[in-house]
Amino acid sequence: MKSEYIWMDGKLVPFEQATVHFLTPALHYGLAVFEGIRCYKTDKGPAVFRLKEHIDRLLMSIHAFGVQNFPYSSEELCYAVHQTIQANKFSSCYIRPLIYMSDGLLSLNIDASRPAVGIAVWEWGKLLGEESASKGIKMIVSSFTRLHPNVNLTKAKISGNYANSVMAKTLATRLGADEAVMLDPEGFVAECTGENIFMVRGGKIYTPSRTTILEGITRDAISVLAQDLGIEFIEESLTRDQLYIADEIFICGTAAEVIPVIEIDFRKIGDGQVGLITKKVQKSFTETIHGKGQRSKEWLSFVSMP
Ligand code: PMP
Repeated sequence: MKSEYIWMDGKLVPFEQATVHFLTPALHYGLAVFEGIRCYKTDKGPAVFRLKEHIDRLLMSIHAFGVQNFPYSSEELCYAVHQTIQANKFSSCYIRPLIYMSDGLLSLNIDASRPAVGIAVWEWGKLLGEESASKGIKMIVSSFTRLHPNVNLTKAKISGNYANSVMAKTLATRLGADEAVMLDPEGFVAECTGENIFMVRGGKIYTPSRTTILEGITRDAISVLAQDLGIEFIEESLTRDQLYIADEIFICGTAAEVIPVIEIDFRKIGDGQVGLITKKVQKSFTETIHGKGQRSKEWLSFVSMP
C-alpha cells in the first residue's frame, strides 16, 4: 500500500505525513465514507475506470449519511484523483478516496465535526488472489445477515458498515472459503462482503435487485456488457438454493473484478469448472478496462502523465 504521495484536503503530502489524530471521530465511530476505484494500464496510458460514477457515489454516500455542506464538487475530486495518480507515476493502481469526520467533538452527532478528505493510491493485485479469476473461488453462505436499510444504509459506503463485512469475511476464510454470500434480513441473497453476485441458469444472467445491496458500478458495467453480448440480464429475488442449483455463478467488484465461483457450501456449482458465460463476461470486462472494448471510450478517464 506504499506510494510517494497521498492527497490530504487539497495538498499532496509525503506518504509518512498522511496521518490523523487519535481523537479523530471517524476512528471511534466509523464516521467516514469511501470509494474503491481502479486505474488500468492501456495503450494510451493509465485510465481510471468509471471515475465520475465512483466520485458521484462517494458524494451520494456522504449525502445519504447526512453530512451537510460538504465543500468539494465532483469535478474537484475527479481532478484530485488524477493529480494523485500523476504524482505517484503509477501506470495502474487502486484508488482509495475517504471522507472522514475530523477535528470536532467526539460526538455521535456528525454536525459536531468537519468532513476531511484523503485520497491514496497504490499498486494492488487481485483482491481474491492471482488465480481467482482463472480457477474460481469457494464460498459459504454467511450466518451474519447483510444490513437492513433501516439499521445501516446499504446504498452508502459508510466505513462503520464494513464491520458487518469484516465479520462475514473473517468467518468464511477461517472456515476455509474465499468469500461469503450474505443474505438480506428477509433471507434472500443480497451480495458478498465486497462484491455483487450473479447466477447463470438456462443461458440467462440473474442478480438480486438493488433493494438491499450496494449498487455496484462493476455490476452496472456487467449488465451493459452482458446485453451487448446478447445475454439476457434479469434482476429478481434469489434464494440460497437457487444458487446451489445454478449452472454458473460469478461475483464482481472493483477490487475483485469478475471472479467465477465453483463451490458454495460444499456444493459444486454446475460441473465445478469456470462456466462459459462467466468466461465471456470476464473477457469482455477485461478488454473494456484495458481500453479495447467498445464501451472503453465512455468508461475510461485517461490520466496524462507528466
Ligand atoms: N457490494 C459491496 C458491499 C461492496 O463493498 C462493493 C465494493 N465497492 C461492491 C458490492 C461492488 O461495488 P463496485 O463494483 O462499485 O466496486
